[in-house]
Amino acid sequence: MATPAVLEPVVMSANPAVVWQKILQALASECGRTTFTTWLQPLGFQDIIDDRAILTAPTRFLRDWVNANYGDRLRGLWAAEFPSVRRVEITVAASLQDTPAIPAPSAPSVSHDSAAATAANDAISAPLDPRFNFENFVVGKPNELAFAAARRVAESPSVPFNPLFLYGGVGLGKTHLMHAIAWHIRRNQPQRKVIYLSAEKFMYEFVKALRFKDTMAFKEQFRSVDVLMIDDVQFISGKDSTQEEFFHTFNALVDQNRQVIISADRQPSDIEGLEERLRSRLGWGLVADVHPTTYELRLGILQAKAEKTSVPVPHSVMEFLAQKITNNVRELEGAFNRVTAHATLVGRAINVEMVGDVLADLLRAHERRLSIDEIQRRVATYYNLRSQDMVSPRRAREVARPRQLAMYLAKVLTNKSLPDIGRSFGGRDHTTVMHAVSKIEDLMKTDATLASDVETLRRQLTV
Ligand code: ADP
Ligand code: MG
Repeated sequence: MATPAVLEPVVMSANPAVVWQKILQALASECGRTTFTTWLQPLGFQDIIDDRAILTAPTRFLRDWVNANYGDRLRGLWAAEFPSVRRVEITVAASLQDTPAIPAPSAPSVSHDSAAATAANDAISAPLDPRFNFENFVVGKPNELAFAAARRVAESPSVPFNPLFLYGGVGLGKTHLMHAIAWHIRRNQPQRKVIYLSAEKFMYEFVKALRFKDTMAFKEQFRSVDVLMIDDVQFISGKDSTQEEFFHTFNALVDQNRQVIISADRQPSDIEGLEERLRSRLGWGLVADVHPTTYELRLGILQAKAEKTSVPVPHSVMEFLAQKITNNVRELEGAFNRVTAHATLVGRAINVEMVGDVLADLLRAHERRLSIDEIQRRVATYYNLRSQDMVSPRRAREVARPRQLAMYLAKVLTNKSLPDIGRSFGGRDHTTVMHAVSKIEDLMKTDATLASDVETLRRQLTV
């Protein structure tokens, strides 16, 4: 016959909520500050049921990470303080807001508030990735405006501009910046209610509400929000009733001076199938773009990643990857992770040759032989010119600059010699090509639009 669990607290004098605070303190002193604040502090204590301590985590991702890395340690700490506990179970805190906060009278200074606030925010909000914070975001020319705007919104107690509209291509850090804003506000201004969700989830929730004839409750969820973030808003283009609902939510929040943050893959005026009044309102605040990465930014991102890995990654390998994997940051990270995972698994040192083997498939795709002809065609299309303009003797600026750019791309993306390139551009001299290459290199340092054009074209040509 098992002893009724309810008797146990009488035997154990400890209050589990206080024990939990003690455990948090122990963890805070034994692991690094970043690990603690990122992974462990967001945990909450819920209950002791039989021999299990039930903890809550704001996201599944965080739960899995804690189970994998701190599961045993948590169990050990609990068992030491509270011998009836044999297991630790972490649930994802979707409904924590229904549970009254557990009073911890003599609680040590480790704050429990942010975890509770996080859980309360999670009713409709999508999970936040703990790695997507400002500290992990590498800033460079292509993203400095978006980064500065995101920081301003996160740090300001009021609403500096409304909405903040972030746009740019896939895998360039928009979602990362939005999560970073959410983490920052949740940590530093826990009284502000922050909701982050994709436009797709917004629509899903809305359709669900329609189906259950519960649109009042749906609206209610947004009424008390202080900061609303909707990711990938291009998704709702053409979806009329979702758009309509979004427009109302958006207007209501902006009118009450609540912060709204939107992301999309292009600027408001370029999103088709969006109603005019919504389109124009989206552009009222600050519109900040994230440009394609530059070589320097890619290198910076790799360096930051290398600092966090236990395997040494030689600089030559980072340069190699920054040169070859140019599409977006997601792909760059993927390549880096593959390389380091491989090195760890088979115990092989990382060098350029090894990277060539491990990433053979990826690199082949990037190294598809490019002809000068194809470069000329792409550049011409990009600038709305005819292919003949690339080889013609015309020297008007609107033709000459794109032609120089094409010469530059021919130089960096193919292994053709300068005289070869000159010949392919209507029989020009190799000094003309040389001049074009250095001209473009110079301009890229000062002209952000041109630099971004170059990267876009380079990307198009190397996929
Ligand atoms: P987007 O939402 O623009 O498609 P994400 O924010 O999902 O892109 O970014 C893709 C991946 O690249 C994520 O893992 C993100 O952490 C990483 N990333 C993007 N930009 C940066 C940056 N500037 N510094 C560090 N990591 C970045
Ligand atoms: Mg995204």
